Amino acid sequence: MTAELSGDIRPAKYPQRVRNELRFRTLSVQRSERVASHFQRVVLTGADLAGFVSAGFDDHTKLFFPQAGVPYQAPTVGDEGIIWPAESRPLARDYTPLFNAQRNELTFDFYLHQSGIASDWAQQAKPGDTLIIGGPRGSLVVPEDYHWQLYVCDETGMPALLRRLEALSTLATPVDVTALIALEDAASKAYFDHLSGFNLQWFVGAERAQIPERLQQLSVPAEDYFLWLTGEGETVKQYCQIFENNGIDQQLLRAVAYWHSK
Ligand SMILES: Cc1cc2nc3c(=O)[nH]c(=O)nc-3n(C[C@H](O)[C@H](O)[C@H](O)COP(=O)(O)OP(=O)(O)OC[C@H]3O[C@@H](n4cnc5c(N)ncnc54)[C@H](O)[C@@H]3O)c2cc1C
Repeated sequence: MTAELSGDIRPAKYPQRVRNELRFRTLSVQRSERVASHFQRVVLTGADLAGFVSAGFDDHTKLFFPQAGVPYQAPTVGDEGIIWPAESRPLARDYTPLFNAQRNELTFDFYLHQSGIASDWAQQAKPGDTLIIGGPRGSLVVPEDYHWQLYVCDETGMPALLRRLEALSTLATPVDVTALIALEDAASKAYFDHLSGFNLQWFVGAERAQIPERLQQLSVPAEDYFLWLTGEGETVKQYCQIFENNGIDQQLLRAVAYWHSK
């Protein structure tokens, strides 16, 4: 009798997609502080946060940034779609929502890179400033109890990984987690200072080029695994190639480009 027929092989647990009602919210900055040298933590609040949900650790919310001379007002959502007042859709970027329902606070941790509308806004954000956000429109809910889990990211994926590791640290049965994290500057390690019990491997500066080789050396178990590959677009493509055609169930591999080198 084969293992399958005897019921020894359990069907894989796949991540599930859930949809949310699309809502735009106008929020106010409550406070803003620098964490781990290179991240600006901006905490938003407001009555518009009512009903906010984010079920997936790597959800994204669109943040719409004010620009001089452009009307700044949330759009309406109706049968005709999303309508911005006077076609004034502001520039938007994706960020990971860190939501605390009890405190009615929504936090975004911005990695401060050289320059960009989001990074620059965060650096200057002060209490009382307004930010329009949209979504998350949907979530990928990834089961937490895969026995073997791999996470690869750079600074931009650290807020999502923070959500994930905080959730995994509450599991009754520990799981085997490895995270390979690419950093421009070692000071960003402090972002995870409060976490313990995970195999965090850091690649700082020129060491970042060693990540593909390290991925090739990993032996992924035959079942009960999950892989999450994020970072700069071309880099993520390179990571994905390592796990193509080698028996990895592609439904248990999530690869997302978090930013693009221009
Ligand atoms: C699902 C998702 C979730 C994300 N969550 C977060 C988050 O929580 N925190 C966070 O900091 N980022 C997050 N990002 C990444 C963020 O959206 C991008 O880094 C974005 O491009 C930043 O916008 P910007 O306006 O600051 O720069 P842009 O105007 O987009 O880019 C300006 C210049 O900066 C370069 N650049 C952009 N990002 C980086 C970077 N990280 N390092 C070096 N150079 C860069 C660009 O190549 C370009 O040359 C997320 C992205 C996705 C897809």
